[in-house]
Amino acid sequence: MPLLKSWVTSANDANHPFPLNNLPCGVLSTQGTQERCGVAIGDMILDLAAAEESGLVRVADMPVFDVPYWNEFMELGADTWGRLRTRLIDLLAEGSADQAAVAPLLVPMADAELHMPVVVPEYTDFYAGRHHALNVGTMFRGPENALPPNWLHIPIGYNGRASSVVVSGTDIRRPWGQLKSPDHDRPAYLPCRRFDIELEMGAIVGTASQGPITVAEADANIFGYVLLNDWSARDIQAWEYQPLGPFQSKATATSISPWIVTRAALEPFRCNTPERLAELLDHLKDCGPMLYDIDLQVTMAPAGKPATTIARTNYSEMYYSSAQQLAHHTTSGCPMNVGDLLGSGTISGPEKENRGSLLELSWGGKEPLTLDTGDTRSFIEDGDTLTLSGAARGDGYTIGFGDCTGTVLPALKDPYAR
Ligand code: CA
Repeated sequence: MPLLKSWVTSANDANHPFPLNNLPCGVLSTQGTQERCGVAIGDMILDLAAAEESGLVRVADMPVFDVPYWNEFMELGADTWGRLRTRLIDLLAEGSADQAAVAPLLVPMADAELHMPVVVPEYTDFYAGRHHALNVGTMFRGPENALPPNWLHIPIGYNGRASSVVVSGTDIRRPWGQLKSPDHDRPAYLPCRRFDIELEMGAIVGTASQGPITVAEADANIFGYVLLNDWSARDIQAWEYQPLGPFQSKATATSISPWIVTRAALEPFRCNTPERLAELLDHLKDCGPMLYDIDLQVTMAPAGKPATTIARTNYSEMYYSSAQQLAHHTTSGCPMNVGDLLGSGTISGPEKENRGSLLELSWGGKEPLTLDTGDTRSFIEDGDTLTLSGAARGDGYTIGFGDCTGTVLPALKDPYAR
């Protein structure tokens, strides 16, 4: 599919993240106004609450866009998702008869504050990138036992915390936690010394389910995707993770990009999962091209200094798709809710420069990175800003997500000191 041209001319630039082909879903406010739903188009945001009020957009008997989340809209179902997309393309396409009526409903992106686009009832994080699992497993257990025996058969996951999912731009406070140094007999409660990122994609469940669903049903139930940074306290994790997996090490914060890029916008970029190293059970098999060709990168900027790109990879490096993760999530009968967030797992590639965490990039701190500024890093230092970005590149257009960024603030004084 080529670029769909819009009368919002900034959207027609081949490198702009928000062409008419994209129409990602966010929540905005401007000074003195309430948070409401909007879609990005070029350098502007179409205020959907205003479009609904004016009658230009109508998807239900009651307004659904005058609220600070997309959950109500998602609950209307996939047919309605498709009808909104068709209507918005009509309204915003070059030559639209509605241009004069729609133009006053556009808000300059530069004047808007962006908020969490969705209420996240539950958040689950997976460990479904093979290069990441091999790297981490090699560091922790040696190359012979790098992949656990279940890894090639199920997308391994854990139930995370929805309460600490935050939108891009939110500052992240370095956590305290229980650490155990190999040099000491007893653990100690200290600020994290090995604070890290994980470059992931997040899938947003748009249709609820009860009981087991197929991979094809799971794919259809996904509304869209965001960039996701699973902030990770490696020293807390190393002490706590056996036998039930990560707990406080992942509970501080999870950042997501402000725009949900819909599955419809990503459809032209579908691609296959990698070669299967073991045959999957029937209920987890691919039902078509399951992944998307999305270039991903991470930059790091020390306080007051320019950013250095520290990793480049692609979403197609995943072993399990989000649809396979969602299907697996339901196999026990687990109900899924509208707005549930599924983290893909860290997306690393085969080369060193493709590694999606500092743990891998610095190989557990043994090989510190040198930034363009000359600073060296094994893990995140206070004041560092970490930014994820992503782009699917089409025929004369780009599908972007908006940055997923966060600055790490120093740990508080001992939070238990009175
Ligand atoms: Ca993770």
